[in-house]
Amino acid sequence: MFTRKIGIDLGTANTIVFTPKRGFIINEPTIVALSVPDNTVLAVGREAKEMIGRTPDDIKSYRPLREGVIADYYITKAMLKYFIANAIGSFNILKPDVVISAPAGITPTERRAIINAAKEAGAREAYIVREPILAALGAGIPINARSGSMIVNIGGGTGEVAVISLGGIVSWASVRIAGDKFDASIIDYIKKKYSIAIGEQTAENIKIEIGSALSLKNKMTYTVRGRNLISGLPKDILISSNEIAEAINPHLLEIAASIQQVFNETPPELVADVMEKGIILSGGSAQILNLAEFFKRILGVNAYVAEDPLFCVAKGSGIILSHLDMYKRTLLNKR
Ligand code: ADP
Ligand code: MG
Repeated sequence: MFTRKIGIDLGTANTIVFTPKRGFIINEPTIVALSVPDNTVLAVGREAKEMIGRTPDDIKSYRPLREGVIADYYITKAMLKYFIANAIGSFNILKPDVVISAPAGITPTERRAIINAAKEAGAREAYIVREPILAALGAGIPINARSGSMIVNIGGGTGEVAVISLGGIVSWASVRIAGDKFDASIIDYIKKKYSIAIGEQTAENIKIEIGSALSLKNKMTYTVRGRNLISGLPKDILISSNEIAEAINPHLLEIAASIQQVFNETPPELVADVMEKGIILSGGSAQILNLAEFFKRILGVNAYVAEDPLFCVAKGSGIILSHLDMYKRTLLNKR
């Protein structure tokens, strides 16, 4: 029977929606705008983002997943409704089957809450799949193989490290260190060193333009306009990629430590597999220059960035959707 299928990568920074027929159809920030007095959802995604900083006091935009899991049921439902409605269009009577990504550490209660929210938001069936499994599938890792693979997915709010074998997660760790923390450390660094205040968006732009995990011989530079904290006046400064490397270094070391911890908890045979094949990096923050080389130097294990790292989780949901019958029996029922 013909059913509609939708994959939703509900990320801390970006939500990406995939359908097998139309490919990636939505890539929007995971942001919700609420009307404060009556707590109703006014806008989701790009529209909500545009409200940031230019809204009256009674409208509040925020990122409900910033730290990884969705705390608010009502908001989860509103977001899912928005993304599902956008994916199927308004002339549809068939309810879709939906695959939704969730953090590796999701509890059974949270899982049920998301399934219920998705059904109330218009899904026929909702399947929750843990993010490392989806990221690995989307990165082209043969997850059902006996041999172990390690995926490190670094997004906006969280970084997840997992070793996968025989279609399941063998060992994993999740850290609340990812792109947002990199941005915050850039803000701090510039404040301490230059007494200049910059905003989150500027910090993210600097990171995307010249961010590097390692110091470079031929460093790149970026002119930043900020506000001098002493005079209060606007001021331009020239920032280099090596300064960004210095600013984000402590966070990268923490992620490396969590990878090391996962190695310590992984059976030796699977560790040997990962040593041989290398670590695969995915997520938007895997695009920081020289990140793979950084991990290689710190951990002594090869690392590679997956193709289209930002889209791995969504791609993985597409793979599951296309073979829903095959995965239904195994993956989707696993806790
Ligand atoms: P999530 O799954 O948590 O929503 P994503 O995988 O979408 O996160 O990644 C979002 C993060 O990736 C943001 O912190 C963003 O700043 C960062 N990012 C996006 N592009 C780049 C880039 N070219 N270099 C470094 N970081 C990037
Ligand atoms: Mg993600």
